[in-house]
Amino acid sequence: MNFFRPACLCLTGLLGLSLSLTSAADSLASEVEAIYDAKLKDLFLHFHRNPELSTMEHQTSARLATELESLGYAVHTGVGGTGIVALLENGEGPLVMFRADMDGLPVEEKSGLSYASRAKQVDPNGNEVFVMHACGHDVHITSLVGTAQLMAAKRDQWQGTLMLIGQPAEERVMGAAAMRADNLWQRFGQPDYAMAFHVTSAMPTGILGASTDSPYSGADTVDIYITGVGAHGASPHRGVDPIVLGSQIVMGLQTVVSRTLPPRRPGVITVGAFHSGTKHNIISDAAHLQLTVRSESPGDRALLLDGISRVAENMGRVAGLPDDLLPEVVVSDESVPPTLNDRALTERVMALWSDHFGEGVLFSGERLGMGAEDFPFFTVDPYIPSLYFAVGGTPPEDFAREQAGGAPVPSHHSPLFKIEPDASVTMGVEASVAALLDLLGS
Ligand SMILES: [Zn+2]
Ligand SMILES: [Zn+2]
Repeated sequence: MNFFRPACLCLTGLLGLSLSLTSAADSLASEVEAIYDAKLKDLFLHFHRNPELSTMEHQTSARLATELESLGYAVHTGVGGTGIVALLENGEGPLVMFRADMDGLPVEEKSGLSYASRAKQVDPNGNEVFVMHACGHDVHITSLVGTAQLMAAKRDQWQGTLMLIGQPAEERVMGAAAMRADNLWQRFGQPDYAMAFHVTSAMPTGILGASTDSPYSGADTVDIYITGVGAHGASPHRGVDPIVLGSQIVMGLQTVVSRTLPPRRPGVITVGAFHSGTKHNIISDAAHLQLTVRSESPGDRALLLDGISRVAENMGRVAGLPDDLLPEVVVSDESVPPTLNDRALTERVMALWSDHFGEGVLFSGERLGMGAEDFPFFTVDPYIPSLYFAVGGTPPEDFAREQAGGAPVPSHHSPLFKIEPDASVTMGVEASVAALLDLLGS
């Protein structure tokens, strides 16, 4: 009995706590559902039917600005191109930023949805192309409006400043940097915390994904220019064949990740393009390799880039090229740093979500690919504690159908891509509002 009694008291206490948390969660969930039915569903359909290409999000940005203005936010447009900054000042307290990216992709939608996009736009090369929200950014901007509405309605429950950002050109990893270059922090204040999410077709609806490590990798674009010595194809001894040298470089690069990085740290070096030659019987005098390089930290990035230079230059020496003709390695300044979640912030918000949503909602499993995002341009320099999370967007029955040998769940950027908007927008809003209320010290 002595043993049982405290355990029983403790259980009662826990039950009381979880009952009050559950009822707070229930009430937030029903508020989100009410604004979804009243407004967000139609707004999502509008954004989905009217996608715009990166840097050309004029109508999207204008509609988002109108929505946020009508909720009482001070909206600044034209930041870094079509970017917008919406501020809700609510007394002394932290400044918290939440970002949604706005751009669509040059993809012709073949999802079969009744509200599929038929929109077209003239791309930067002057070609008219179909445009589609094939990455789900329509979910992000619709959720941002829902979050804005609930945070404005609940302003007696928090203190500080909420900064909502509509970001252009994420798909070209340009928009965040463009907004920073437009003196974003100098003009509107430097946030104490920053957050964003991506809806994902790879996770079922009703599931939130977050982890304390990096949700996205760093990415670099690298070119290798190889100079050879041209010759007749029948007289290879008279030249230095850049195709043979380029092939040796490609094979040499395959050992850089496996023999340079510690084995438990991931990295990718992919040669995506190899250009050389004009004709069967000519040994070309040049070759050009185009690489993408993925890493998880500045240190690993340096190891991989050093390894690429070492292999390329020394393979040039192996081929007998003089020092002034060794292959040239050019790292583009379009580099994207890894997206790193702040450990303390992430643990705080994940604990809050576990309480709020209960068991079986929060997922922090392993990540398989090494995709990149431009969100870290907001958070790396100067360092701002940030959390980037994922919201599931595919109905569970679609995964079951795939498992049973049926149609596979389409991936992002596919013409077949589709997101279930009801569950993903409402989950996006609820997770965002719960986290913001906590960070803004409710
Ligand atoms: Zn995308
Ligand atoms: Zn995306």
